[in-house]
Amino acid sequence: MSFSRARTNAELVDRMVGKGLITSLRVAEALKGVDRKNYVPSDWAAYEDSPQRIGFNATISAPHMHAHACENLLTHLDAANDTEGGAVLDVGSGSGYLTAVLHRLAPRATVIGIDHLQGLADLARTNLAKDGVTIGPASKIDIVCGDGRKGWPAHAPYQVIHVGAAAPSIPDALVDQLAAPGRMFIPVGVVEQDIWQVDKDASGAVIRKKLFGVMYVPLTDKEKQWTE
Ligand code: SAH
Repeated sequence: MSFSRARTNAELVDRMVGKGLITSLRVAEALKGVDRKNYVPSDWAAYEDSPQRIGFNATISAPHMHAHACENLLTHLDAANDTEGGAVLDVGSGSGYLTAVLHRLAPRATVIGIDHLQGLADLARTNLAKDGVTIGPASKIDIVCGDGRKGWPAHAPYQVIHVGAAAPSIPDALVDQLAAPGRMFIPVGVVEQDIWQVDKDASGAVIRKKLFGVMYVPLTDKEKQWTE
């Protein structure tokens, strides 16, 4: 699925459009608005369709995975944007890249990125500042530090929950914090991993659907991921 390195962020996105990896113009525009070079450690690999290490045993996901997630969540991001008090949770925010893209797609919603490692929460804050994004409790986008398996009750319920690390099973707290209606995009599995789409309908019924196979870093305990 991958292709040779692009020279600019716009070219990277255009190539994904050309390959049919992105079908929504709005997703393409949002991805063009967040320059990946501000979120990766080495400029030379910024515009390659591959994951890259960002430290602390974490990786920034490949651009086509971020694109898939945005396309899958788009109508629910619109709902978050159009709902009074609408909110979006990005669990395992890592580099902060996708949190910034979600904020572009739902600028009126509160978008929270959560990571369990303080070093990565700090990294995301630095990256977002480099990208010119103002974050904090007074802004519509913020990065917090905590165990994402427990969600972030302060802004629940969420019309959209994106999970950027693979859980052994779907955490109950995240299903509980999903709005009705709402959608979660989550990789699940230990050896074999798949993306699951978890929909909560307006009546509160939960429908789980397996979408496709993937490879993500684990959603785990911070001691297991990283000890100094
Ligand atoms: N979407 C991010 C993915 C980063 S990799 C990006 O593209 O940059 C997955 C992230 O999940 C890592 O940053 C890791 O620290 C985080 N993570 C793993 N287990 C977690 C947990 N229990 N709670 C919160 N974050 C977790």
